[in-house]
Amino acid sequence: MIVRRIALNGWRNYDFETIDFSPGINVIRGRNAQGKTNLLEAVYMLAAGRSFRSRFDREIVGFGYSSAEILADVEAHGREQTVKIVLSPGRRKQITVNSVKKTASELAGTITAVLFCPEDLSLVRDGAVVRRRLMDNAIGQLRPGYAAVLTEYNRILEQKSAILRDYHEKPSLLYTLDDFSERLCRLSAKLIRYRASFVERLGKSAAPIHREFSGGSDSLALFYKTVSTVENPFASEKEIYYAVCEHQERHRKAELESGQCLTGAHRDDMEIEINGRSARTFASQGQKRTAALSIKLGEREIHLQETDEYPVLLLDDVLSELDGKRQEFVLNRIGGGQTLITCCEDDGITERTGGRVITIDGGKAAL
Ligand code: ATP
Ligand code: MG
Repeated sequence: MIVRRIALNGWRNYDFETIDFSPGINVIRGRNAQGKTNLLEAVYMLAAGRSFRSRFDREIVGFGYSSAEILADVEAHGREQTVKIVLSPGRRKQITVNSVKKTASELAGTITAVLFCPEDLSLVRDGAVVRRRLMDNAIGQLRPGYAAVLTEYNRILEQKSAILRDYHEKPSLLYTLDDFSERLCRLSAKLIRYRASFVERLGKSAAPIHREFSGGSDSLALFYKTVSTVENPFASEKEIYYAVCEHQERHRKAELESGQCLTGAHRDDMEIEINGRSARTFASQGQKRTAALSIKLGEREIHLQETDEYPVLLLDDVLSELDGKRQEFVLNRIGGGQTLITCCEDDGITERTGGRVITIDGGKAAL
């Protein structure tokens, strides 16, 4: 999948600019605060239908503009397509592919992107939130139905959490509690099946990369962690549903006492092991970073297996965070697909990649 050209209008600090990308490596360089990450954010939007850093689209609209617009020529499966996205505060985002209206989740079939930013390097060390985000971002692009289930899940979770928080003041809220719990169990069952098969595949594709990366010494394994009563997360949706309900019943009292939602897929995690031991607890800093890199590169391989094409790889400030050996490993691994790499002007990365250089200065590009 390739983004050939992107035109931005009122997008963050881009006033009106068109940028052509090479199908291989593109190095996007410039001083701080010139718009490098903003450009990657726009490419990610083409694939995921949402931003990776703002929850609200209105934050993306350039100061003084009434809307933000992306118009892009992309190529997927040998077909040229034109994707247009318009964000206007107070309105739903408008998305068209070749002038046909699409929803954000329908964009999944157009192009895919894998984003890698410095926070991902602490994927192993950080809390479960970052690992759930990785699962959600990847599956959301691979499975068109997933994003909608997740949005619904988060909506119900928010409502149930509000009941558990406020029922002391307003006891009548409790009438609807069991109904919300039941709906969360149903939606959990759906999320669990998607996530279990994704983590299994991710483990299979990241392990050989990690082995090569560590010079054959380390073996990486990933395990999906979900609601404790679910013994087999690959079972039928119905079986998983019953198992989650069982957990829910056992924790109903504790939920009321703690005021927190204790059952459901919102507490899921991905356990990362190196040589049979928890990487989070036992691995060195270097091993953790190597594992994080292998997992992100493994994610890219899954997209290739699924779609027969590499996703667009977006490396935002990642290379400058790595030592020479790891930079070399990543650069040697990213052939075959399109990559956009951001870096600062003076960190010497440009020369090492051999890619097309695009210099960004105040929301304007110069080749
Ligand atoms: P760094 O090297 O520090 O990561 P960068 O080139 O990646 O810098 P960006 O994150 O792309 O920089 O942001 C560039 C500028 O965009 C910032 O100065 C920010 O104030 C500005 N900006 C953010 N949102 C908007 C917006 N809605 N309208 C106009 N400008 C914005
Ligand atoms: Mg940046």
